[in-house]
Amino acid sequence: MGREGLVSKPAVRRSRRPGRDGGKRRDWFRCLGAGACALAWSRGSLASASLEAQEARKGFVAPRPSPFFTPVEGGHLRCELCPHGCRMAPGERGRCRVRENRRGQGYTLAWGNPCVVLLEPVERMPFFHVVPGSRCLSVATAGCNLACAFCEVWDTALVMPEEVHAFDLPPAAVVERARQVGARSVAFTLGEPVAYFEYMEAVSAEAKKAGLLCLMHSAGFVNPAPLDRVLPLLDAVNIDLKAFDAGFYRRVVGGELQPVLETLKRVRAAGLHLEITHLLIPTLNDDLGRLGEMCSWIAGELGPDTPLHLSRFYPLYRLANLPPTPVSTLNRAREVAQAAGLRYAYVAKVPGHDGENTACPACRNLVIRRVGFMVEEVGVAGGRCRSCGEKIPGIWS
Ligand code: SF4
Repeated sequence: MGREGLVSKPAVRRSRRPGRDGGKRRDWFRCLGAGACALAWSRGSLASASLEAQEARKGFVAPRPSPFFTPVEGGHLRCELCPHGCRMAPGERGRCRVRENRRGQGYTLAWGNPCVVLLEPVERMPFFHVVPGSRCLSVATAGCNLACAFCEVWDTALVMPEEVHAFDLPPAAVVERARQVGARSVAFTLGEPVAYFEYMEAVSAEAKKAGLLCLMHSAGFVNPAPLDRVLPLLDAVNIDLKAFDAGFYRRVVGGELQPVLETLKRVRAAGLHLEITHLLIPTLNDDLGRLGEMCSWIAGELGPDTPLHLSRFYPLYRLANLPPTPVSTLNRAREVAQAAGLRYAYVAKVPGHDGENTACPACRNLVIRRVGFMVEEVGVAGGRCRSCGEKIPGIWS
């Protein structure tokens, strides 16, 4: 497949065509995306309702100086936040659509203006080893520094902030909202946190003071120095490892593999709880030999206790021509991951699949049962298997 056929160009408005899967993930956003937006909540995947109406404004942006710009010659600025290293003349914007050179000063346009604000089960983020069954308040703005052909949130992430309805929600208001709705954590997901990195940092600082957990789900395409700034504020991280193939990253994602591997190692070295999501896309990254190499790398570099979500692909966006991942492929992929030594390999987005459950790797007894986003801790207490006392990695209280 030609590379130009899959990677979208920045700052191009997409038509609002639905995915063939019915756009399950995007359906949540529909409750936010229409003109009469509301802070919304949902119970599992079954229901959503307005919690408290708050007007969201189309294109609401509150530009804020960003610390990630370095002046270069001719009034140009270079952004040091992610490996793209965008160089911007005055008036230009970076590939992520949210950072801009305004008369020689670098600004972010993704601060305090989330277009997504949802109360969700933590499993949906997805975190399987972080206070199972708890709720987290997720926030995301427009923008992304990648351009995945299989983006599930393309109509909020792969657009400019001027194109979406956004809430006026400074960091303290996010934390206040999280406490009001009984969230245990704040999650930066359902978009790309690198796009709203400065906002994530500020929200995390507030959330920490309030005793909330801070969770980031990212593609991990970020430079080491900015990452090291924010890691002390986070409690758990889920990184999308989209393939173990540099060519796939260039053709289908619009990025590079190596910086993502570096991010994974830095998160592990920082001692945060780490989970990984790998979406298996038919014909593009479902080679089980390559998957085995990836799982061996994870086990060797990050440790065999790193939970891996082997996620089912559903046709959407630029890959609407491909079929969903066969469950048989996911089953074989899980066997490959287990054979590589990974002790917590899950099958994701196949509700009711046995691969959603957590079994103790020592005695094989079931410790957490999951059906979709319904969770029951049946054999774990204080982060240990009730039967044999084996420590189960994660955050449990
Ligand atoms: S964060 Fe945005 S502006 Fe900065 S280098 Fe990456 S894509 Fe470019």
